[in-house]
Amino acid sequence: MSTAQKCDVLIAGGGPAGLSVAESLPEHLSKVVLHQDREIGMPVRTSGGTWVRDMEQLDVPPHLYHVINEIEFRSDNAQSLHRLSDWKMAVLDITGLYKWIAARAASNGAEILTGTKFLTAEERDGGYRCTARARDGSTREYQARYLIDATGTQSAVLSSLGLGRKPERVGVGIEYDYAMPGGVSDRAVLIVGSQALTGYGWIFPAPNNTLRIGVGVIQPDTDVSPRDLMAKLMTPEVLESYGLELGERIKVNAGVIPSVAYGKQLVYGNVIRTGDAANFATPTVGEGIRQAVEFGRMLGGALGETMATGQRRPLKMYEKSARSRFARDYHFGFMTNRRMAKYTIADWDKSVRRVARLSEAEMAALVRSEFAPQMLMRTAAKQVWHKLRR
Ligand SMILES: Cc1cc2nc3c(=O)[nH]c(=O)nc-3n(C[C@H](O)[C@H](O)[C@H](O)COP(=O)(O)OP(=O)(O)OC[C@H]3O[C@@H](n4cnc5c(N)ncnc54)[C@H](O)[C@@H]3O)c2cc1C
Repeated sequence: MSTAQKCDVLIAGGGPAGLSVAESLPEHLSKVVLHQDREIGMPVRTSGGTWVRDMEQLDVPPHLYHVINEIEFRSDNAQSLHRLSDWKMAVLDITGLYKWIAARAASNGAEILTGTKFLTAEERDGGYRCTARARDGSTREYQARYLIDATGTQSAVLSSLGLGRKPERVGVGIEYDYAMPGGVSDRAVLIVGSQALTGYGWIFPAPNNTLRIGVGVIQPDTDVSPRDLMAKLMTPEVLESYGLELGERIKVNAGVIPSVAYGKQLVYGNVIRTGDAANFATPTVGEGIRQAVEFGRMLGGALGETMATGQRRPLKMYEKSARSRFARDYHFGFMTNRRMAKYTIADWDKSVRRVARLSEAEMAALVRSEFAPQMLMRTAAKQVWHKLRR
């Protein structure tokens, strides 16, 4: 007879979503996090742009982010600069943040196994029998009552159980990190147009005097590799146009994010998905860390309640809260995403000029994929007014 380790909750994926679930489940429950990478938060697979408001609400310590006071949108022939006051952005120390959440999860009793890849799950003995492979090639077995899919784009748990599959349309990004011993500015730049057709590029001043430059594209909408786009972006002329004098390149980060329509089902019996495995990242710019943390924590609390009471309602509420937060906005956001993937250089120029006419709050709502009816009407009215005046 095989000896499977028993646990109440098995969480596959130790990114911000999985770790946040582990951090917020009741302490007395046994919880195991399987994480395929050798270290939490390494390698980095994301650029870490977010919002100060959200980080404050989530109690993320300020030393884990660099505050951005200005954001610039640039296309080939247009530019839009926004000074931020109510909607300050931030760029995260990704490794620092993920390790911070992991430390909280560990002190909440979670067993975090790095270098351990979730492989398969099957229904057995009233729960789930799972296999995982450690870096030394050995296989481990777990018998869990509940299974959380927090494996991001991989959707490894759902795929293994035939409940879902890896998204076919994805955003693929690459990013270079530079040491900037002289310090970094507080201006982030989003680049659209010929330098990042079907996606966008970014220049993010980050914590610890580092600067991140990256490009993301949507595949299979384009065959162009982000690496080739980076080569175009990193020419002396382009860098000079952004006033950049780079220090030493210290890291290359790369990652993949789903770029498909939002799917409302999150709970499949005792299997639940969250974070990128649940497609929580915004369809406009692919921002998903704050949602991974917020909804990961919500799921931990809800699952704890369900396990304590035997009632399914808290889990249903988790699914419902996500639906009311994302379904409508992401429907519009995804329409925008599909449209933008076909934009020409002239379309991007027009868009950036339109963004220049938005207030700070409207610009923030657009980047955050928050399309409240009043905001849509106000923005449309502004564009009509601008056309009439011409
Ligand atoms: C290029 C790029 C840029 C981005 N920029 C931003 C940004 O500026 N701001 C922002 O908020 N968001 C950004 N995102 C999105 C953000 O990274 C994700 O939304 C967020 O990381 C989702 O967290 P998660 O925990 O659900 O998934 P992930 O962060 O993907 O974590 C899942 C983890 O599970 C592990 N895993 C996968 N399969 C297995 C398995 N079988 N067994 C064990 N472990 C497994 C993976 O190694 C991974 O570390 C970006 C994404 C990309 C790709």
